[in-house]
Amino acid sequence: MRKKLVVGNWKMHGSRAANAVLLAGLKEAGPWNADVAVCVPFPYISETALALTGTAIAFGAQDCSAHEQGAYTGEVSSAMLQDIGCRYVIVGHSERRAYHHEGDQLVADKAKAALAHGVTPIVCVGETLAEREAGRTEEVVKRQLAAVIHTLTHCIGEIVVAYEPVWAIGTGLTATPEQAQAVHHVLRQQLQAASKKADAMRILYGGSVKPDNAAQLFAQADIDGGLIGGAALKAADFAAICRAA
Ligand code: PEP
Repeated sequence: MRKKLVVGNWKMHGSRAANAVLLAGLKEAGPWNADVAVCVPFPYISETALALTGTAIAFGAQDCSAHEQGAYTGEVSSAMLQDIGCRYVIVGHSERRAYHHEGDQLVADKAKAALAHGVTPIVCVGETLAEREAGRTEEVVKRQLAAVIHTLTHCIGEIVVAYEPVWAIGTGLTATPEQAQAVHHVLRQQLQAASKKADAMRILYGGSVKPDNAAQLFAQADIDGGLIGGAALKAADFAAICRAA
């Protein structure tokens, strides 16, 4: 039995004042049966840590460097994330793959760097609309995950995977529970071929998850929670999704 995990991805949203209101709302609404975390912009991580002290809500970042340290202006290392208490880091989000041209191997290297510092990488995979329409969904997500499996080898069981169809992110279009489950099943089988821990690994769904569609998605056999964007910015919505998990 896998414990569900719900992770809020705040993306590049927030301010000190807005975050304080959001976090206070979450503290009041919790705890939940699921594990819950928020991945916040770098400048707000320490303040988020402080605000969440004494709660069961974990926190993390939205990206990390693949490098250990050095002359990489603007980058943040996973050692730094560990140093400030991050439990999770999102790697390979489709927005980073698209706007920052992050390829499969870089994403895998970031996941490796995170694990080396005890930060759990949430590795995002997902196809574009064109790829889905061309019947290439399975091929694309398997290729993306294969790079991570190959790079992490025996540590693959330590990661969280997030299936996020690109066409469903921030668009209001959600994969049906059946569409999502079909891809999650493919990913589970790929993990099973690589690790004895595959059945205990969490595969999250992300893409326009809202309070009114969360329960149906989370009821699918291989959907172990969600990575939530827009709906993570309102305490009431995020809390309702956490309750559904
Ligand atoms: C995301 O950015 O990871 C995401 C799933 O966004 P949204 O929930 O807004 O589609």
